[in-house]
Amino acid sequence: MKTLASLVTFATTLLALSAPVHAAADLELWRLDCGNVAVKDLSMFSDTFDYAGKTSTLTDSCYVIRHGADYMLWDTGLPAGLIGQKQDLSQPLAPSLEIDIPTQLAKIGIKPEQIGLVGISHNHFDHLGQASTFAKSTLMIGAGDWESLHENPLPFGVVPALVQPWMDGKAKVDLVSGDRDVFKDGSVMMLAMPGHTKGETALLVNLPKTGPVLLSGDVVHFEEQIARNGVPPFNVDRAESLASMERMNGVAKALNAKLIIQHDTRDIGKLPVFPASAK
Ligand SMILES: [Zn+2]
Repeated sequence: MKTLASLVTFATTLLALSAPVHAAADLELWRLDCGNVAVKDLSMFSDTFDYAGKTSTLTDSCYVIRHGADYMLWDTGLPAGLIGQKQDLSQPLAPSLEIDIPTQLAKIGIKPEQIGLVGISHNHFDHLGQASTFAKSTLMIGAGDWESLHENPLPFGVVPALVQPWMDGKAKVDLVSGDRDVFKDGSVMMLAMPGHTKGETALLVNLPKTGPVLLSGDVVHFEEQIARNGVPPFNVDRAESLASMERMNGVAKALNAKLIIQHDTRDIGKLPVFPASAK
């Protein structure tokens, strides 16, 4: 009987560790405008030659999460230096930016120094662009992506200068391996979804009223990639990319979460229009 009792205790502990916690945390989520990227030939996002001859515009989004009195920024968009520059549509990828993150934060009464955590889905330039504005914050980044910032030659899209304060050891880096329960109450979780980059993560935000929201990172860039199992040729690992897509869809389905594909303009409308927030 003793064995049975300890087995039950063990199983209960395992369940508690593995089941998603729906904590009624005091949470709020805003979507920020972090620019857009015109894509001259969308087939550069497919290693199976889909979308030939198609052009597209990807949006670039960032997010602010308020957890009680704490603030976390999720991704930091395109570099602020792009503001006022003409979009060069002759380039394969033509970024543009109209407004920076601090200007938007001011509209909701948040000062940059109030952002304690900067969570990064992955190390590409369109996600690290304005990170240094928050140079006193703790940078939460996938361990594999932090490693890639130090590689020579650098992988596609990786610009270490955008996170110079952390590269120089002037601010704290929190390396994320596997999944991470950010506030330790199940309300906000970084989920390991490698493949696009070595340490790619998506973010699950369990909002008390709206319900779970899953921010995709770049596990996919637009909806069609889900239907077509689309993998861009510049992803670091094809098999991991497919496995992560499967995980992302699985999480969204099991939790009935609102999946926000961060680069898909059609997903902008899934969250309230800034300065309104999802609660
Ligand atoms: Zn991106």
